[in-house]
Amino acid sequence: MGESKKQVSVLGLGRMGAALAGALLGAGHDVTVWNRSPVKAGPLLDRGARLAATPAEAASADVVISCLSTYDTQQPVLDAAALPGRTLVNLTSGTPEQARGVAKWAADQGIGYVDGVIMAVPQGIGTPEARILYGGSETAFTAQRDVLSVLGEPVFLGEDAGLAALYDLALLGMMWSTMGGYLHALALVGTEGVTPERFTPMALPWLSAVSGFLPGIGAQVASGDYATDVSALDINAAGLALLVETSRAQGINPAVPAVFRELFDRAVAAGHGAHAIASVIEEIR
Ligand code: NAP
Repeated sequence: MGESKKQVSVLGLGRMGAALAGALLGAGHDVTVWNRSPVKAGPLLDRGARLAATPAEAASADVVISCLSTYDTQQPVLDAAALPGRTLVNLTSGTPEQARGVAKWAADQGIGYVDGVIMAVPQGIGTPEARILYGGSETAFTAQRDVLSVLGEPVFLGEDAGLAALYDLALLGMMWSTMGGYLHALALVGTEGVTPERFTPMALPWLSAVSGFLPGIGAQVASGDYATDVSALDINAAGLALLVETSRAQGINPAVPAVFRELFDRAVAAGHGAHAIASVIEEIR
C-alpha cells in the first residue's frame, strides 16, 4: 500500500482487538500488538505482526489503538504505555464520563486523543457493514482517517470525547429493546406451540414497517408537536394492557411490555391520551 503504510499498535487482543489487528495487517500496515496473555498474538504474528513484550514497547507507533474489556482494565495499560506525543484511539466501551476522563488524562500529557465505539461484531471488522463512531480531537482523527477507514466506515461526531459513548449506549439501548421485544414475542407465541421458525418471517417485515415510523416520531420529539391523526396514545396504552394481561394469562413473564405499559399509562395520566406515541418522551426525560 506504498506511502500510506503506517506503524499501528493494538493494545488488547480479545475477540475485537484481534479482529482490528487482523484488518490492519490485511491492509498492509506495520502492526505491533500487545496483550496481557501473549499467546493470543500467535495467529497475528504468523501474518507478520510484531509482538511487544510490554505496553511501552508498543508506544512508538504513529497511532496506538486500545481495545480492552473495560476502562478500569485499560487505564493501567495506558499508564504503562507512556504515550506523550502519540495519537491514542480508544475503542474500549465505557460511559461518556469515562471517555471524557481519559480525554483529560491524554490532554494533560500531550497525547492526541480520539474516542471511538464499534457498531459491529468482530467478524464485521474490515467489511463495509462495520461502522465506527468517533469523538475527540478532530485533528488527530483526520490525520489517522486512512488507518481508521480500514476497520470500518469512520463517522466523526464532534470534539466532545464523550459523544461516541453516548451514541453507543443510545443505539445499544434500541438494540436491546428490540431484542427484548422479539424474545417476549417468541415466548408468547411459544405458549401455543408456534416456533421461532414460523414466527420470525412475520416479525421481520413488521420490524421494517415499525422502523419507518422513527423519522416521524423524531420530528415530533424535535418540535414538541404531538398532534396525530394516525394512532393516539390511549389506544396504544390499551393495547399494552391487553399484552400484559395476555402474557400473564399464558403464564409468561410480562416484564418487557410492563415497562412500556407503565410509561404509556403515566403519559396518558399526564394528559397525552389524544397525542401521538412521541409524547411518552415527556415521561422519560
Ligand atoms: P474480550 O474478548 O473479552 O477481550 C478482553 C480483552 O481485555 C483481552 O485482550 C484481555 O486480555 C483484556 N483484559 C481483560 N482484563 C485485563 C486486565 N486486567 N489487564 C489487561 N488486559 C485485560 O472482549 P472483546 O469482545 O474483545 O471486547 C473488547 C472491547 O470491545 C470491550 O470494551 C467491548 O465492549 C468492545 N466491543 C466488543 C464488541 C464485540 O462484539 N466483541 C463489539 C463492540 C465493542 P487477555 O486476553 O489477557 O484476557
